[in-house]
Amino acid sequence: MDNIDSNFNSFGLDKDFIDNLSSLGYIAPTPIQKATISHVLNGKDIIAKAKTGSGKTLAFAIGIVNSLNISTLQPQALVLVPTRELGKQVLLDIKKVAKYRQNTKTTLLIGGEPLKAQATAISKGTHIIVATPGRLLDHLQKQSLDIKKIKTLVLDEADKMLDMGFLEDIQKITRNMKNNRQTLLFSATFSNTILKLSQTIQKDAISIEVDSVVDKLQEYYINYHEDKYHTLVTLLSYYRPQKAVLFCTMKVTVDEISDRLYSDGFSSISLQGDLDQISRDENLIKFSSSCANILVATDIASRGLDIDGVDLVINYDFPKDLAQYTHRIGRTGRINKSGVAVTLLKQSQVFGEEFKDKEIQKLTIDIPKVKPYQAKMSMLAIKRYKKQKIRAGDIVGTLTKTKELLSNDIGDITITSSYAYVAILDSKIKIAHLILQNNKIKGMKFKSYILAD
Ligand code: ADP
Ligand code: MG
Repeated sequence: MDNIDSNFNSFGLDKDFIDNLSSLGYIAPTPIQKATISHVLNGKDIIAKAKTGSGKTLAFAIGIVNSLNISTLQPQALVLVPTRELGKQVLLDIKKVAKYRQNTKTTLLIGGEPLKAQATAISKGTHIIVATPGRLLDHLQKQSLDIKKIKTLVLDEADKMLDMGFLEDIQKITRNMKNNRQTLLFSATFSNTILKLSQTIQKDAISIEVDSVVDKLQEYYINYHEDKYHTLVTLLSYYRPQKAVLFCTMKVTVDEISDRLYSDGFSSISLQGDLDQISRDENLIKFSSSCANILVATDIASRGLDIDGVDLVINYDFPKDLAQYTHRIGRTGRINKSGVAVTLLKQSQVFGEEFKDKEIQKLTIDIPKVKPYQAKMSMLAIKRYKKQKIRAGDIVGTLTKTKELLSNDIGDITITSSYAYVAILDSKIKIAHLILQNNKIKGMKFKSYILAD
C-alpha cells in the first residue's frame, strides 16, 4: 500500500536522494517519518508528536533539503532548537542528508561562540540555518541576518523550548518572517501552550501523533464528526490499501457500505452470513487473489481468516469488546508483515476501560480529495465438472499458448469442486477470456465467464 511502504521510494524523491539516504543507513522510514514526510514535502504545516529517538530530525531534514534552491544563496530554512548541543547534532544530520547536493551551505548560530564570526559566515551566504532562539534574535537585532525569504521554519523540541522560556523569542522571530512560509513543529508532548503556539505561528496545521516503537501492527483510531462514510473514504484514499478488511456490526451495513464504496469507484466486495455459500467462497477468493481491494464484512471474517497480505483493517463499527477488537485487527500484521488497524470513533466516543493497556494512537489525516482506485486483477471463472480434472498448470499452459498472455499476467488460481478461478491482470482479462473461448484445456472445452468486479 502506497503510504505505508517499507522504504523511502513512495515519497517521490529523486533517485540520488534515496541513494544517499540508503548510504546513510536509512532504508525504511520510521512511523513518524511515514506519517509526516509526505505532508512536509507537500508544504503543509504540521504539528507532530513523537518520542525521543523516533527519527524526527530526518522527517524535517528531508523536506528542507528537497525544497532547497541551491543556486540562490539565501537562507531558505531555519531550524530552531532549545540547546547548543542539539543544534550541533541537527546541523550534522542535515549536512549528511544534503551531502548529495553539492554546494549546500549550512550555518550554526548558537550561544557560546563569537557573534562576529557567525555574522561573517552569514554574510558569505547560506541556505540552511540551525539556531537557538536567543542567538538568532541577537543576529536579527544586529541586522546581520535577514530571514524574510525563509520558506521553512522548524521548531524542534518545541515543548522544551517553551519550558526554557523561549515563547516570546520565537514569536519575535516569526514576526520577522514572511507569512506564507511552512512551519513544522515537533514536540514530545502536546500541552495547551504548544497548541496555542501552533495557532499563532502556524496555518491549518495537521496534527500527527505517532508511537515511537516500530510495531508490526500499528493501531490507530480516527475521529469522525457527522459523516462517518466520508471519513472512511478519506482513510481509504490516504492509505490506498491493496487488501483491506472493513468490519461492520450488521449485515445490512455490510451491504450498504460495500455497495456505496463500489459505486464510488472503489473495488469492494462483501462477506456476511446471508450470502449464499458460492458467493461467500467466490468473494473470499476474489479478495485473496487481489481482484478486490476492500472486503466489507461482519465478524464472520474476524476469526481465523488468514489472508496473505492484508495491509489494513478498519473497524468501521466499534467492536463489542476487546476480544472482538483483537480478533478483527489480527487479520493484518501477520507473520513478519507490517499492518495497520484503524478504528473509527465518534468524536464524543472513547475506548472503554478494558482497552486501557492498549496503545492506540490518534490518527489525523488531511486528504481533502477522495481518490478511488481499482484492483489490479480481475477474475475469470471456468466452469468445470467434477470428473474434468484440470490443474493450475494446464490452465496457464492454455492461456500462454498464443503468446498474447505472459505467465506474469496470471495471478492466483483456485480450483473448487465446480469452478476454477483465475486471477488475471485487469488489462488482460478480455484477451484471457477470448483465449479460453477459442482454445481447449487438456483437450477439453470449458465455459468461462469474467466475474463482475
Ligand atoms: P528524535 O528527533 O525523535 O529524537 P532522531 O532524529 O534523533 O530522533 O533519530 C534517532 C536515531 O535514529 C538517529 O540515530 C537517527 O540517525 C536514526 N534514524 C532516524 N531515522 C532512521 C531511519 N529511517 N532508519 C534508521 N535509522 C534512523
Ligand atoms: Mg529530535
